[in-house]
Amino acid sequence: MKLVLIGAPAAGKGTQARRLIDKYNLAYISTGDILREQVSKGTELGLKAKEVMDAGKLVSDELIIAIVKDRLSEDDCKVGYILDGFPRTDVQAQKLDELIGSVDRAIYIKVPDDVLLTRLTARETCPDCGAIYNKISSPSKEAGVCDVCGAKLTQRKDDNMETGLVRLKTFHDTADALIDHYAKQGKLFEVDGLADIDEVTNEIFKNLGE
Ligand code: AMP
Repeated sequence: MKLVLIGAPAAGKGTQARRLIDKYNLAYISTGDILREQVSKGTELGLKAKEVMDAGKLVSDELIIAIVKDRLSEDDCKVGYILDGFPRTDVQAQKLDELIGSVDRAIYIKVPDDVLLTRLTARETCPDCGAIYNKISSPSKEAGVCDVCGAKLTQRKDDNMETGLVRLKTFHDTADALIDHYAKQGKLFEVDGLADIDEVTNEIFKNLGE
């Protein structure tokens, strides 16, 4: 199964992706995670991407397509995969179609902007295992500590109000074309991301035919 997750920052893509991976045994490809890893390693690619990411803008289509093409050629992708945060533009969606034929489903998790901003500024992530928490709606049992692996939780550098507003604008500038792309192919499934996390998961599972 080849899935794409579409949604603004903090819509719940990462959380739902983890559940889909567990259920369908898929490889997980988050372009944001790949870029953040490169930034933390200080690679040439990371240095190129850092400034753009910190500003809440998109890195070039060319760069991100090269990253995804590379990642898709890895062995774990043979069983199927879920793309989180890619494609983000119509050009990226077209390129993905060229690379893989087409996806089975593009899942759009829809959440109003005011809710997204509240979620985003309260989000915490585990740098070791990738678990995602929210200080308001789904806090870790012990403040600042990952329930899964015990690591100290961190906040993403771009999860602040100022960058969050730019990231939301960036999403709205490009999302319509992307959503249109998959709607025309009959591959789009839109889910209400305001619902309880488990309910969103159930809706997605139902749409995928369990
Ligand atoms: P994310 O973790 O998906 O929110 O991505 C973090 C940042 O990485 C974004 O704000 C962009 O700067 C960059 N990024 C991730 N995926 C893409 C993409 N498909 N196209 C362009 N930039 C991306």
